[in-house]
Amino acid sequence: MAAAAQAHSLLFNPHQKPSHRRPSNRIRPLTITAASNAPITGRKLRVAVIGGGPAGSSAAEALAAGGIETFLFERNNTKTPKPCGGAIPLCMLDEFDIPLHLVDRRVTRMKIVSPSNLTVDFGSKTLKPHEYIPMLRREVLDSFLRSRAESAGAQLVPALVTRLDVPSSAAEPYLIHHNLNGQIRTLAVDAVVGADGANSRVAKSINAGDYAVAMAFQERIRLPDDKMEYYRDLAEMYVGDDVSPDFYAWVFPKCDHVAVGTGTVSSKQSIKLYQQGIRQRVSQKISGGRVIRVEAHPIPEHPRPVRVRGRVALIGDAAGYVTKCSGEGIYFAARSGRMCGEAIVKASEGGDKAIGEADLRREYLRQWDGEFATTFRFLDGLQRVFYRSNAAREALVELCGDEYVQRMTFDSYLYKRLAERNGWEDLRMFAGTVGSLIRCRIVGRARGYGGEVELLNRFV
Ligand SMILES: Cc1cc2nc3c(=O)[nH]c(=O)nc-3n(C[C@H](O)[C@H](O)[C@H](O)COP(=O)(O)OP(=O)(O)OC[C@H]3O[C@@H](n4cnc5c(N)ncnc54)[C@H](O)[C@@H]3O)c2cc1C
Repeated sequence: MAAAAQAHSLLFNPHQKPSHRRPSNRIRPLTITAASNAPITGRKLRVAVIGGGPAGSSAAEALAAGGIETFLFERNNTKTPKPCGGAIPLCMLDEFDIPLHLVDRRVTRMKIVSPSNLTVDFGSKTLKPHEYIPMLRREVLDSFLRSRAESAGAQLVPALVTRLDVPSSAAEPYLIHHNLNGQIRTLAVDAVVGADGANSRVAKSINAGDYAVAMAFQERIRLPDDKMEYYRDLAEMYVGDDVSPDFYAWVFPKCDHVAVGTGTVSSKQSIKLYQQGIRQRVSQKISGGRVIRVEAHPIPEHPRPVRVRGRVALIGDAAGYVTKCSGEGIYFAARSGRMCGEAIVKASEGGDKAIGEADLRREYLRQWDGEFATTFRFLDGLQRVFYRSNAAREALVELCGDEYVQRMTFDSYLYKRLAERNGWEDLRMFAGTVGSLIRCRIVGRARGYGGEVELLNRFV
């Protein structure tokens, strides 16, 4: 009980003057209720969300809207954007009520380019007239989601969380140490949501274990008008040993520039070499461009070994929710945030009951895995089959020319659901895949590649 008593005197910023947005001087002492599901009297369950990216803001919004006393910690108030391509699936606009004016570009055409520069148009024939890939600036999306969480009632704390003290019993609070304008302060809370990205401090504090990461490198390049016009509604993906040994390189159109980047898991020390590779491949298209920002950041490769421990849940990149093959994480961050927030609201009956690890496992983890584990496993398998050699990458690009493959891909990406399947087309697609792999393998054997068909058989 000593730590609980101490927490009473460690409240967030007790001397701050009253402010409209952050009434932090009115934060009340916290007396923890020992047993999970026991009623909390005289106050609501108090939850700290660490990290105000798409995951954290979505969690904070759901928590606050559901009656939980919610604190959203975000260190980055300097408007430095998270390094990101900013492509989101179309369904996210509706699902998360994102206003259309936040969308910078509508990508309606994609090109996928093989190691031998075989280029396939992806989307121009298969996308329906109203379909597109929305491209947003992260600084715009993140600040929108953050202020919506505030409007729902979350208190935004613009501070760097420096340490999380994990209690040794259910009767004690978690202590969030944070640096607010140069002063170290502490907030005592009932539960914590770790939304602090791929280098998560929260994950380390609860010994959640490591995951493999890809290192992504990206240059933002402002192009002359005629060159920018080429990329107006076009995104390009390049595959090949020259641009990445195990991922793809991209040119994504942004509001007034393009993002040119690449990633790798197995050869991080050579990332700049691969960046040279993609620059070389697109040299004509970006000539005359001026680099306005260079950025690099890890991308998780798979979920962490532990995503819930005690009264702490990890979401978004902190949990490892980025799909292989595409490196997509914004939607999964927001979805996991909302799901986790709603899970806590449900388990605590609107903030009136204490929660425990079993509640987080039942209401959040089980639901997440039920909905998404298969998708993540499927894309993991695809990456292992198609990104492992130039021969397999040629087969991948060849397959992408198939309209049925394109429709299936777009339906699962844009709407996060499986397209209406056609048994005959599925069979034809499987035969086509094997055929492409065999053909490309024969070509590749001369170069010492192979093994993809065996992998595909195991995977299918
Ligand atoms: C180069 C690159 C390109 C990408 N392109 C795409 C793409 O086009 N589409 C897509 O869907 N995904 C893309 N991703 C993946 C996507 O960026 C992530 O999956 C997504 O941002 C995860 O959201 P999140 O909220 O979990 O974490 P983040 O967006 O990383 O947010 C974490 C937040 O926590 C804050 N924070 C961290 N530590 C602390 C602390 N100690 N105290 C307080 N605050 C803290 C950070 O400032 C940050 O705001 C890309 C990633 C990279 C690196």
